Amino acid sequence: MINIAIDGPSGAGKSTIAKHLAKTLGFLYVDTGALYRAIGLYVLRQGEDTRDEDTVEKLLENIQLRLAYVEGTQRVLLNGEDVSQAIRTQEVAMAASNVSAMPCVREFLFSLQQNMARDNNVVMDGRDIGTVVLPNAQIKIFLTATAEDRARRRCLELKEKGQQAEYETVLEEVKQRDYNDSHRAIAPLKQAPDAILVDTTGNELETSIEILTNLVKEKLK
Ligand code: C5P
Repeated sequence: MINIAIDGPSGAGKSTIAKHLAKTLGFLYVDTGALYRAIGLYVLRQGEDTRDEDTVEKLLENIQLRLAYVEGTQRVLLNGEDVSQAIRTQEVAMAASNVSAMPCVREFLFSLQQNMARDNNVVMDGRDIGTVVLPNAQIKIFLTATAEDRARRRCLELKEKGQQAEYETVLEEVKQRDYNDSHRAIAPLKQAPDAILVDTTGNELETSIEILTNLVKEKLK
């Protein structure tokens, strides 16, 4: 199986670019952030603290997660419920960032991710795919952009969805998540030594998609 790992901070365009790439190649797109978000959502719905590891560990016993594909689009099933929409809020993003620092959560999701890559050609995106989950991936990409650029894009996205978005607040959240993700003790966000660095700062999305697609096609030759 061919495995392509795309890691990087939130908002660098990973998911949109990875999705396009997977479609072009006919591979499965696996958005691993959605799995962490689903756990975050579950903990929030129970009214529990997403930073309390003992509580989260106990709650994991009640969680069954599955990825399904409907017309090529990934859906996340949390105990059988499709939560693909419900996980796309800022509150859930922060909850995901909190629970993702816990070894019990990372262990819980590890084999699910590895099995997807064992059984399918995948483009998998996340934070630790090239470093921990798929260290033998044939192609690894580390996609980044400045925090300001990512916050600007995030504001636009939120406004397009009709949600309130204050640039300064979004920038703070982006920086907070960057800090959390790259300073945690387990599987922190970092570039694998054999990953190709792609900086999308200032690029139109189409340009970044083109750069990545050409790069991957060249590597797969
Ligand atoms: O990519 P997305 O923003 O949906 O991810 C939500 C959160 O899940 C991230 O902020 C990060 O803390 C966590 N995550 C992770 N490892 C991954 C994917 C996501 O820790 N492979």
